[in-house]
Amino acid sequence: MQAKDSSAPAMAHALPSYLNPDHLGPWGIYLQQVDRVTPYLGSLARWVETLKRPKRILVVDVPIEMDDGRIAHFEGYRVQHNLSRGPGKGGVRFHQDVTLSEVMALSAWMSVKNAAVNVPYGGAKGGIRVDPRTLSKGELERLTRRYTSEIGLLIGPSKDIPAPDVNTNGQIMAWMMDTYSMNTGATATGVVTGKPIDLGGSLGRVEATGRGVFTVGVEAAKLTGLSVQGARVAVQGFGNVGGTAGKLFAEAGAKVVAVQDHTGTIHNANGLDVPALLEHVTNTGGVGGFAGAQAMDAKDFWGVECDILIPAALEGQITKDNAGQIKAKMVIEGANGPTTPEADDILTDKGVLVLPDVIANAGGVTVSYFEWVQDFSSFFWTEDEINARLVRIMQEAFAAVWAVAQEHKVTLRTATFIVACKRMLHAREMRGLYP
Ligand code: GLU
Repeated sequence: MQAKDSSAPAMAHALPSYLNPDHLGPWGIYLQQVDRVTPYLGSLARWVETLKRPKRILVVDVPIEMDDGRIAHFEGYRVQHNLSRGPGKGGVRFHQDVTLSEVMALSAWMSVKNAAVNVPYGGAKGGIRVDPRTLSKGELERLTRRYTSEIGLLIGPSKDIPAPDVNTNGQIMAWMMDTYSMNTGATATGVVTGKPIDLGGSLGRVEATGRGVFTVGVEAAKLTGLSVQGARVAVQGFGNVGGTAGKLFAEAGAKVVAVQDHTGTIHNANGLDVPALLEHVTNTGGVGGFAGAQAMDAKDFWGVECDILIPAALEGQITKDNAGQIKAKMVIEGANGPTTPEADDILTDKGVLVLPDVIANAGGVTVSYFEWVQDFSSFFWTEDEINARLVRIMQEAFAAVWAVAQEHKVTLRTATFIVACKRMLHAREMRGLYP
């Protein structure tokens, strides 16, 4: 199942004029991934171009008054990649480096992810090009509310449902829900997920992505004969996703030996005290300066001696320049798009098993789906029920992807794309073209 997949250059496509063909960014990576799946789509390949262009893109200007009286303008996006299987679904990211190409790729990865775990959604994503750490709480609220108003044309409980992503959280979802509700004249809890529990949020949502990462990791470990007990784990990003995954692996008897985030890279070959590290992150904003570890050079992180590597920060982290150094037997992608196609091939050649983002981090949107269902029915489930349903969906989806990988002798990424793209394109074909 570790055979290399054939690839065709993304340049071969007729590209939309709003993209720079010399610098396609994350969208170019996504296009290469689609090219790798096309040979496996059979007669559905007729529809594959659908996947190579987003259905709808909205770019908005987000002006706000800063606390010092200046007027600042920020660039905002909402991209709906595919709506064949249901309303758009996907997070909103606040980051200074957000680009249209990135939001497009993230929206497409949501389409694939939602189809892979078979939740009844298409794929969408949003973002604002801003470093939220430079804003006061009032500025952040005004930015969120103006952005929500601007994308109000597209979003709605049965149209497109945003959620948290990098640098966004329950408070931001509460402001989004309130803004949409004020604009439409009725409280609409189902317009966003990842809300605070008291506002129609779901138990287990905050931990869901990390729990899904852990669940597929355990399943893959069983299938490959890797013992989680005693396994050495390295994690990049120790927020919502990486922090929860690290905690669950440590509770299962693994040793978290290295962690990297924007504040530093730390290492302890005997295993870090994960609860203490989580507390340090809550108090100081990052892992840097944690007393129970040695600091290490950021560039040495990828070569650290470990069995399981969890990139859980941003995209484009594992590249052809560092993939060769990786010593882990398994990479579990908590982040979206952390591995470039060249790096994917290097890891495959080395026999490193990559559990791709589009299945490995699908736990978050799965519990978002539960939240949305609970909001519609106004009937809320227990945390045990939610976690049990989450684990079952992740295990079943992962087993199906594993079987397809074995059948076609392809990577788990291509296998996940095969399962998901067939679902999307079958829906597309059955709905037919209108008019
Ligand atoms: N932002 C998360 C993701 O990338 C969650 C999206 C959602 O819950 O809609 O999967």
